[in-house]
Amino acid sequence: MTDRKAELADNLARVEERVARACSTAGRRREDVTLIVVTKTYPASDVRLLAELGVLHVAENRDQDAAPKAAACADLPLDWHFVGQLQTNKVRSVTDYASFVHSVDRPRLVTALSGAAVRAGRETGCLIQVTLDGESGDVGSRGGAPPERVADLAGEVAAAEGLRLAGVMTVAPLTGPYAGRPGAAFEELWDISTRLRAAHPAANMVSAGMSADLEEAVAAGATHVRVGSAVLGVRPRLG
Ligand SMILES: *Cc1c(COP(=O)(O)O)cnc(C)c1O
Repeated sequence: MTDRKAELADNLARVEERVARACSTAGRRREDVTLIVVTKTYPASDVRLLAELGVLHVAENRDQDAAPKAAACADLPLDWHFVGQLQTNKVRSVTDYASFVHSVDRPRLVTALSGAAVRAGRETGCLIQVTLDGESGDVGSRGGAPPERVADLAGEVAAAEGLRLAGVMTVAPLTGPYAGRPGAAFEELWDISTRLRAAHPAANMVSAGMSADLEEAVAAGATHVRVGSAVLGVRPRLG
């Protein structure tokens, strides 16, 4: 085993232990939480090693980086998740490799994704990204729709050809009432998910939790945790 592979195996084992312990603490079954490894800023060679180590789900947040990486790894049995803010001019590229887009936050994006998915002959799983920072639509924010817009947006996804409404996603807010309280934010996301599932029972994915707060996410009911640095190492500042 190469040094890098051993390092990734070690980190993965540690993350797996954290997820398993969080599940057991929450009285949840381990198989009800899916680990998505966020490989942004790291090379395709790392994605390949992760696949060899049994990882099935990877995520990226920038299409410019993700598209060539996914192409280089097209032979691997991986599901690609797109978790970054998405410009409509990138959707054709993203729908070519991504099984899931976690960052659906506005009607224009739904329209664009639908057109691209139909054209590619694919079905793209869509999660509504919810922002819980209490400030809707500020430029430079990390994206997301405010909670009161989730129902309408979900309806648009559900009605769109080529798209499958899969669930909801959030990133623990850095500002607003939930700053520093990821557990409370994830509980709010769970309530939003519960309301969504009342109308769309199959939309049961709850994507929440990263390296720093995966335990809080599992405790609050997350079905998918997105873990980057705890597996791959701390990234250089950008990304
Ligand atoms: C980078 C990123 C992650 C992973 O963050 P880590 O702190 O490295 O685990 C998860 N979700 C999104 C949306 C990200 O951009």
